[in-house]
Amino acid sequence: MNKKLWGILIIILFTLIVIFTIIFKPNYKQKELNNNTKIVTSFYPIYIITSNIIQNVNNVELVNMTETNTGCVHNYTLLAADMKKIENADIFIKNGLELENFMDKVISTYPNLKVIDSSMQITNKIQETENVNPHVWTSIINYIKQVEEISAKLCQYNPENAEIYTVNTKNYINSLNDLKEEYNTNLQNLKGKKAICLNEALIYLLQEIGMEVTQVETDHEESTLSADILKNLINKMKEEKIEIIFVDINDNLKNAQTLSLETGVNIYKLNSCLTGENNKDSYIINMKENLEVLKQIQ
Ligand SMILES: [Zn+2]
Repeated sequence: MNKKLWGILIIILFTLIVIFTIIFKPNYKQKELNNNTKIVTSFYPIYIITSNIIQNVNNVELVNMTETNTGCVHNYTLLAADMKKIENADIFIKNGLELENFMDKVISTYPNLKVIDSSMQITNKIQETENVNPHVWTSIINYIKQVEEISAKLCQYNPENAEIYTVNTKNYINSLNDLKEEYNTNLQNLKGKKAICLNEALIYLLQEIGMEVTQVETDHEESTLSADILKNLINKMKEEKIEIIFVDINDNLKNAQTLSLETGVNIYKLNSCLTGENNKDSYIINMKENLEVLKQIQ
């Protein structure tokens, strides 16, 4: 074979390679098909807020990192499955106030990941012995601030959908304001009333309706209360004529029942909106149920 023929063959081969690359270009094509903005939320309350904001939006994928029944992510241990979800995410949305500290290390390994801290605009934080109580969403006013903050940052990071985000946010906040109004109208008689609360997630809700609450720090683990603490609580309840005990609907009732037996005080179960169904209205539904429970208190 002479040099000329070799040259022609090489040119043909090269042309074929170029044509095949253009036709198939596997990597580019895959990327074009999957250029959705992927949003990952840390846990249930933040997931519910975000599902309301992104309704009817195109090219956005929303994933909740933890399961809807995980509950509070206090002391949560990251699973391999969670890591997988965060891997291709564009935006990570968290409650903030150190509730998602377990994520700090992971987040630092994704320099391009945009992180939204929903509690940036919260001002009425409750200081506990060591930390700020992070369960701010049980106050409707705080929850609205979280909705606003997440929405504002989503508009900034995903401007092509900003218009829909803004409309959805406005509608959702209207419903939340109605809910707030219902609380105001129906619970005036609870202002200044004394109560014991055995779940720190409910404190923001009770503070918002103006109750005078003695909070018992339980870290969602009521069973850890010592006999001494219980004895002091019983004395306090008797001395100060405290006639209400609050627990979360998912709490172990052991300590509440001990207090109730010793003092004759009723136990009221509220929902801290930490778990629930995959229903974007769940916060409003749960808070309306809480309102019905609170209305029973004389
Ligand atoms: Zn918690």
